[in-house]
Amino acid sequence: MEKKEDELVGKTAENKKVVLKNYVNGTPIETDMEVRKHGNPIKLEAPKASVLVKNLYLSCDPYMRGRMQDFHKSYVPPFSPGSAIEGFGVSKVVDSDDPNFKRGDLVTGLTSWEEYSVIRNTGQLRIIQQDDGIPLSYHVGLLGMPGFTAYAGFYEVCAPKKGEYVYVSAAAGAVGQLVGQLAKLHGCYVVGSAGTSQKVEILKNKLGFDEAFNYKEELDLEATLARYFAQGIDIYFDNVGGPMLDAALGNMRVHGRVAVCGMVSQNSRTDTQSFRNMFGLISKRITIKGFLQSDFLHLYSRFLEDITGYYKQGKIVYIENMNDGLESAATAFVGLFSGKNVGKQVIRVASE
Ligand code: NAP
Repeated sequence: MEKKEDELVGKTAENKKVVLKNYVNGTPIETDMEVRKHGNPIKLEAPKASVLVKNLYLSCDPYMRGRMQDFHKSYVPPFSPGSAIEGFGVSKVVDSDDPNFKRGDLVTGLTSWEEYSVIRNTGQLRIIQQDDGIPLSYHVGLLGMPGFTAYAGFYEVCAPKKGEYVYVSAAAGAVGQLVGQLAKLHGCYVVGSAGTSQKVEILKNKLGFDEAFNYKEELDLEATLARYFAQGIDIYFDNVGGPMLDAALGNMRVHGRVAVCGMVSQNSRTDTQSFRNMFGLISKRITIKGFLQSDFLHLYSRFLEDITGYYKQGKIVYIENMNDGLESAATAFVGLFSGKNVGKQVIRVASE
């Protein structure tokens, strides 16, 4: 029997897409995006030196908020309103005019929020060696950019030592859940925070954190952290920034390290906030370091090997929040900024 991809090549498809309507001010809302048809049906053929893929899973990532504004605060260029939103995905090659890819290959990398995409920059795609023990969608989560961020950020930026006290914010999310589990495997004491009691339960009972708390129920974050870390914090893996970062700085131990991974609490703010605990950087000789996962790409193959091994040995688990269909994409994306996602937020677009 012919492969499904062979049957598709040369046909046309309506090709629904999710577009950003206009640049966004403040926190994104669902109506900032909409599902549209492409003007004309597209022909399912790869143009010169490109691949044409069918998108299976799309990733919702907080950094994409930065691409929804035209002034340049993000480290990646803005989206074009009216065009399909760009993001990481898992896709299947329908047709290829690139010798490195063939019909039926499963790939992961940057694609667009639509049913079929032409990918011209094929150098950024990675062929997935399919492994029945690992869900395909994990290639935008555990084995994708967020998982790699956790791995590089924890081992390379935090420089952890066994027995150290580690605090992780947004701990039930795509990055945080892996940071906490890696810290436990490393022999650290780990506390996580998240914004619902369900997430706190998951952190303690499913992800193996020593302690967890709901930051939305706490009036004084600095006092809360002092309660959970009587000895102070050696490592703070910061996913949120703002007042939580200030509260953590107030609880750091001498020679503590703060890895500034993200500032999801600040993504949509334009005002400035003051920090009370900066002086401690000097007296406690604290290192605070921002990082981008892309600085560490030379470690990607080691990461894949290590994390695949941990997962298969049952040493780590991974939680996903799966939404179905491009119609659900806007809801899924805006949910990141109110904490609706429990685990890595993914959109399932099609089955293989
Ligand atoms: P995520 O944690 O899966 O989703 C975002 C979470 O942030 C939400 O579920 C919510 O959880 C929390 N949140 C939303 N608004 C908040 C607010 N105002 N205050 C506090 N918490 C808030 O996202 P992720 O993909 O793992 O990303 C986590 C962070 O890492 C983000 O800041 C992201 O930008 C950053 N990141 C950085 C890099 C890098 O290379 N440096 C790479 C990937 C990601 P709660 O229930 O806890 O509120």
